[in-house]
Amino acid sequence: MNWKRTLGVDNLSEEYRFAWDESTGFTSAKKIPDHWVPTTCGYCSVGCGIEIGVKDGHAIASRPFAAHPVNRGKLCPKGLSEHYTLESENRAQYPLLRHRGKLKRVSWDEALSVMAVRFRTTQKAYGPEALGVLSTGQLVTEEFYTLGKLVQLGFGTNNYDGNTTLCMASAVSGYKISFGSDGPPGAYEDMEIADVVLLIGANLADNHPILCQHLEANHHKTLIVADPRVSKTAMMADIHLPLKPRSDLALLNGIAHILIRYNLIDREYVEKHTVGFAELERFLDAYTPERVAELTGLRQETIFKTALLYGRAKAGFIGWTMGVNHSTIGAATVNAICNLALLTGHIGRAGASPFSITGQCNAMGTREAGFASSLPGYRKFDNAQDRADLAAIWGVDESRIPVKRGLAYPDIVEATVAKKIRALWIIATNPLVSYPNQDVLRHGLCNLDFLVVQDGYHPTPTTELADLVLPAAIWGEKEGTYTNSERRVSKVNQAVAPRGEARSDFDIFLALAEKLRCREELYPGWTTVEDAFNEWRRVSQGRLCDYSGISYALLAEHGAVQWPLTEGATPKGTSRLYADGQFQTPDGRAKLVCTDWAPFPEQPTAPYPFVLNTGRTVEHWHTRTKTREVPILERLSPRAWLEMNPRDAKKLGLRSHDSVDVVSRRGRVREVELRLTEITAPGQVFMPFHFAETNVNEVTQDAFDPISREPNYKQCAVRVERSGVNA
Ligand code: SF4
Repeated sequence: MNWKRTLGVDNLSEEYRFAWDESTGFTSAKKIPDHWVPTTCGYCSVGCGIEIGVKDGHAIASRPFAAHPVNRGKLCPKGLSEHYTLESENRAQYPLLRHRGKLKRVSWDEALSVMAVRFRTTQKAYGPEALGVLSTGQLVTEEFYTLGKLVQLGFGTNNYDGNTTLCMASAVSGYKISFGSDGPPGAYEDMEIADVVLLIGANLADNHPILCQHLEANHHKTLIVADPRVSKTAMMADIHLPLKPRSDLALLNGIAHILIRYNLIDREYVEKHTVGFAELERFLDAYTPERVAELTGLRQETIFKTALLYGRAKAGFIGWTMGVNHSTIGAATVNAICNLALLTGHIGRAGASPFSITGQCNAMGTREAGFASSLPGYRKFDNAQDRADLAAIWGVDESRIPVKRGLAYPDIVEATVAKKIRALWIIATNPLVSYPNQDVLRHGLCNLDFLVVQDGYHPTPTTELADLVLPAAIWGEKEGTYTNSERRVSKVNQAVAPRGEARSDFDIFLALAEKLRCREELYPGWTTVEDAFNEWRRVSQGRLCDYSGISYALLAEHGAVQWPLTEGATPKGTSRLYADGQFQTPDGRAKLVCTDWAPFPEQPTAPYPFVLNTGRTVEHWHTRTKTREVPILERLSPRAWLEMNPRDAKKLGLRSHDSVDVVSRRGRVREVELRLTEITAPGQVFMPFHFAETNVNEVTQDAFDPISREPNYKQCAVRVERSGVNA
């Protein structure tokens, strides 16, 4: 108890004292740091430069890093409050081992010894593939690279994937099929240069807010937004295309049909740099404006107008995110986007790009460092030369490099259900909120003999189920690099010490390798993340994602740069790929792909009449593990909601703010606040996916893209009931 306060002699002057700060003017004295540490935002893939204010060893403020080329002195609400994530109450601080049903604190030595023994015993009993690993887009690139070696060479399993398969695997697969390699061809500045910007399934205003600056800097553009909802981004558009759910592929084929029919294509580019035109032309005959209008629900004039604008543009930019990727036809839809760019030559030039805007802060780093859907440096599992090159760099026998990828994320989950995977290591992700159809996942995780969850936070729904919890340092507590959506490599710096006994993921991987007695073989002489980065530079050398010219010293001197940057090149990096029309295919030509539209797998029926769409809100990040502990964000958006069109609500006798249940064939989400709005069209409902307490993934469908294995989060059939009526 504060006696002075009780006696009225303490007026909290220290608490509320203000002082002058050079960057912000008069402000709370508590918020003026001793020093600022430059780093990169740890939330989304925009990759904003940020500075952490440190006072007495604690992070007390965040501000934009003014010199960073991405955000130019601005941050979104998550970035501005990011320092709060470091000292939140739910941080994991000590290794915890389950004993007689309860998690008990143990030493690091015991934790890692038990982990090594249990994983090895499981592999001995059931084969190396009985161990699965699920990673994340949250680690630094150096950690992905270190982890990949540990999993594939140390443990000898390739059943390794990341939560990145839940968000951008379709973009990866699509790029590989069309261009022969992953790698977004464009840059953010293309949004400022293009005269036509077409965004498909991309609500930048909520999900990548700082990119809106780049859009707004372009005053001569026509902005077209294709989205079934009137999202905040659709509200910024010159033309909004409110297409039917999952009809984007039909729209893209319809646009391609018009471009070819009215000779709005770049025939010289097509002839010189692509294959498959004649076949595509024949295939697109079926996508007449009449049929596409029917499939999409758009008027033929609107489809024509969109096609003519894109076809006649000097530089056309197409950006997409999860609205495209979260689908059973996600990879094919990406191919259809790439088709448009190739047909018109809108690629490899200023303002012209088919551009996947990815999800997490370092999802791109996982794509490049590989080990999941490809080998490091965009090498292919099935390419003998690629395997031989890697083996030579690592000094290991070629037979240790897998000849095909292991199980993808959903297949790892299925393998836990089938008891083929018996031990699982989950790193920095929270699938018991984020995975579709939670029931299947719960079943699989409960089947395991041993579950290790390594995370910066505890408790989370996933750590609560673990046999072993390893506390990890998070953003602000460790060093490395992130790569953003435009291939820009940014330095991540440590500002404060990890909480409690938490260690960086890098240190955990090295310590585990020590227990497995493979540290010196896999990581010869390594002590710092820079050692990992320097090996990664050599591994990437000569590849599309060449980092060989990037060093920590260069990043410190010149700031963030785009790959490829070859050794000895000027430190500017490369704004665009494929400027010379040479693609990463054996003959150097990109592929025009015939991509047939198909309806989404679970159509509405009388018992389940609504199409449920899921997505995000600007205040929260993924499963809200971090942002629910940030007071300002939590106050702005404290609970989930369901958006419904007022006409549908009237038929159901529901009113705004009613408490409703959302029910699908798989489960029920109880007591969701109903919001009536014209943002969502009749027959559709929308719900954000951040909230563990009202988890939309209790009802979403575990249907997956056959190529990318990405889930179809965006559409499933549900009904909506007043809470408490039929529960
Ligand atoms: S836009 Fe993304 S990277 Fe930038 S501050 Fe916001 S969350 Fe961070």
